[in-house]
Amino acid sequence: MMEARLKEAIRDVPDFPKKGIIFKDITPVLADCNMFKDVIAFLAERYAGKKITAVAGIESRGFLFGTPLALALGASFIPIRKKGKLPYTKVEASYELEYGTATIEMHTDAVKNGDTVLVIDDLLATGGTAKAACDLIRGQGADVAECAFVVELDFLKGRDALDCDVYSIVHY
Ligand code: AMP
Repeated sequence: MMEARLKEAIRDVPDFPKKGIIFKDITPVLADCNMFKDVIAFLAERYAGKKITAVAGIESRGFLFGTPLALALGASFIPIRKKGKLPYTKVEASYELEYGTATIEMHTDAVKNGDTVLVIDDLLATGGTAKAACDLIRGQGADVAECAFVVELDFLKGRDALDCDVYSIVHY
C-alpha cells in the first residue's frame, strides 16, 4: 500500500529548520527510483480522466512531484515560485508565516480562463502556501480541481484553510 511504503521511507528530522519542528524529509522517496515512479503513477491514476489541463507545483518540492505528474497526465506544468524568481509579467499573493509573511508569484500567462488546475506540493502544514497558490490561479480565471500533497500534517488542520478539495497520500 502506497501510504505504508511512503511512511517507511519518509525520514523525520527533528529541530529542522528550527527547534521544535519535525521536518518530514522526502528525499529518500526520490532516491528510490521504483518508489518515486510508483508515487507518480499512483497520483496519475487518481487524476486521469479528471480533465486536468495544468499541474501547478509550489516551489520547490512541489516541482519534484508536479513535473512528472504533469507529463503523466499530458497537462502543462506551472511553476509557482517564491518572490523574485520568475522573469516575466506576474501576479503575487502573500500569506502569514509563524513570524512575518511570505510571497509567491505566478506568470500571468501560466493559466487561462477554463483551465482546470491541480495544485501540488510535498506537504500540507498550515495551508497558507497552498491557499495563496489557489488565489493566484483563481485570480487568473482558472479553476482549482484539487490540492494534492504527498504528506499532510493533520494536527495543523491545513485543509480547513483551503476552500477546495484536498487529497494527501500520507497522514500524520
Ligand atoms: P504551510 O503553508 O504551513 O502549509 O507549509 C507548507 C510548506 O512548508 C510546504 O512547501 C512544505 O514543504 C513546508 N513544510 C512545512 N512544514 C514542514 C515539515 N514539518 N516538514 C517538511 N516540510 C514542511
